[in-house]
Amino acid sequence: MSAAWIQASSARAQRIQTLVRKRTADLKRINRRLVDDMIARERTEKALQHSEQRFRQLVSMSSDWYWEQDRDFRFTMVTGGFTEKAGIVLERLLGRTRWEFIDSIPDSEAGRAHIAQVRAHQPFANFEYQLRDDNGDTRWFCVNGQPVFDEHGGFAGYRGTGSDITERKLTEQRVHHVAQHDVLTGLPNRSLLQDRLSQAIAQSSRSGNPVWVMLIDLDRFKFVNDSMGHKAGDVLLMTVAARLRACLRDSDTVARLSGDEFVVLVSEHGEQQLTPAIVERVMNAVAQPVLLGTKEFFVTCSIGVSVYPSESTPADELIEHADIAMYRAKKLGRNNFQFYSPAMNEESLERVRIEGALRNALERDEFVLYYQPQLDMKTGKIVGMEALIRWQHPELGMVPPGRFVSIAEETGLIVPIGAWVMRTACAQNKAWQDAGFDKLRVAVNLSARQFGAPDLVEDIAAVLADTGLEPKYLEIELTESLFMSDITPAVELLHRMKALGVNLSIDDFGTGYSSLSYLSRFPIDVLKIDRSFVADITRDANDEAIVTSIIALAHNLKLAVIAEGVETGEQLDYLRRHGCDEMQGYYFSRPVPALEFEQLLREGRGLRPHETIAPAEPAIADGGAANSY
Ligand code: C2E
Ligand code: CA
Ligand code: CA
Repeated sequence: MSAAWIQASSARAQRIQTLVRKRTADLKRINRRLVDDMIARERTEKALQHSEQRFRQLVSMSSDWYWEQDRDFRFTMVTGGFTEKAGIVLERLLGRTRWEFIDSIPDSEAGRAHIAQVRAHQPFANFEYQLRDDNGDTRWFCVNGQPVFDEHGGFAGYRGTGSDITERKLTEQRVHHVAQHDVLTGLPNRSLLQDRLSQAIAQSSRSGNPVWVMLIDLDRFKFVNDSMGHKAGDVLLMTVAARLRACLRDSDTVARLSGDEFVVLVSEHGEQQLTPAIVERVMNAVAQPVLLGTKEFFVTCSIGVSVYPSESTPADELIEHADIAMYRAKKLGRNNFQFYSPAMNEESLERVRIEGALRNALERDEFVLYYQPQLDMKTGKIVGMEALIRWQHPELGMVPPGRFVSIAEETGLIVPIGAWVMRTACAQNKAWQDAGFDKLRVAVNLSARQFGAPDLVEDIAAVLADTGLEPKYLEIELTESLFMSDITPAVELLHRMKALGVNLSIDDFGTGYSSLSYLSRFPIDVLKIDRSFVADITRDANDEAIVTSIIALAHNLKLAVIAEGVETGEQLDYLRRHGCDEMQGYYFSRPVPALEFEQLLREGRGLRPHETIAPAEPAIADGGAANSY
């Protein structure tokens, strides 16, 4: 029994012991797990702290900031040195939405889209907006945001980043400015002009207020550029640009189209109606003297105006039509303005037609030469003739030179046409001489374009050699425009031409710009008084003075003088009395075809010798007085 008890009690003790061991082991294990847990938690906490610190460091190092908003889009926090980075005290921002803080956001398309996106709890990226910082400086921010949802999927607000992009925006604006403005004058260029024009048209369509497009072209800018140099030309353009700006309102656009062409857009605003006085104001502003170096220059301009809305001008042809009107203003003698009219379009279409037809005219043999006699005032005899070109076109009819010579000059066609004139005139003159008529001089007009062509002197020499005409029976008429630019090569060329033995005359004398002092450097034989002076000599005291001065000047320089455009007996008398050497004009004969001219020669026609020669008025003694015109 006791043995059984002992056995039983030792078995219990053993069980207890096992239990105790087991518990102890459990406890140890739990303890170990606890310690492990603690270590792990500590590690996590450290890691968290670390990551938080890294995040803060990162945010403060980067130029961005981090922000959070509540479910009503109000800022709850912004980290990372926001105030320094953004120039805004944080407290001003907290508790407000972005569009409460910057009340201009709802004004823009992008701003309204942003607000809608946020209200729809969508993520957004690169939303850019402008604002003023605490110093009142303009800044640009760019923000990105993500909606935040709680564990039940409910919307809890937004978080995101922001950065200051002012530098980039300014650079972009500068690049944009450069791309849209003219470097020299700072005015809008053609591309920006197009934008402004579209805006003006759109506005006009809404308001019904008209828009005027003025195309302004400086008269004889090329002359300044060539004679004074490009720097002076630049100064002139900048001056004109500033004057155009100054004489218009800030809301008007002044753009530089190219070279010396400017465009002005003016729109009517309420009270201020558009009237031609505005165009005159622009012309006056341009026409003020400009100081270039030590010289004062007077530059005028020609302006073409097109109007929107108008029946004849669709929106996309406003500039083109202003250009056509400007061209017309130039043709009417420059320094004036013209409003576009459909008739002008006709004219420019005719230009295109003429240009096309002109290209074939030579090979189709459509040109003819007319000859106008030139007579000696003393003997009354025909001593020469001017060859004047005529164009007989199968459909256009007889086209006068006034309608095609300038086009031929612009296109360069004048070079082959002029060569044809030279050859035909010389051959005709030689043929008359060979037929036994008195030997006459033939005058041929040379355009500036031909003057600049290579081989000019060689070509003239070849014509003389081929036709057998003695050089002294050829006279070449040049205009003063040839000498406007750089005169040194011109002088050299004139000497080479003169060396051929031909005569040289200056046509339309008195209308150009030639400085009288140049004249003595040119190997010139004849001055041809422009017919505009002759037309008025018996009516206008100024023109009288000019004509008598030219005659006196020419004689002092040992040059002969011929008056062209003599239409009346009084004009003839006047010129005779003042010692003019020769005359040409309708009074004696119009330009006539070769056969008719031959008839004049055959009949021995001439001026009736002057019976009662009145005593000559005292001629101006020297060139001094002549300088005054
Ligand atoms: P231009 O050289 O001044 O020629 C004189 C112009 O005056 C001619 O006009 C002539 O018909 C006109 N005329 C002559 N006498 C009188 C007159 O008494 N009263 C009036 N009102 N006019 C008179 P046209 O033939 O129409 O020629 C016009 C211009 O065309 C010429 O002016 C000249 O610049 C140019 N031209 C004519 N033929 C040629 C040519 O073969 N080559 C070049 N390059 N130009 C030419
Ligand atoms: Ca002429
Ligand atoms: Ca002339």
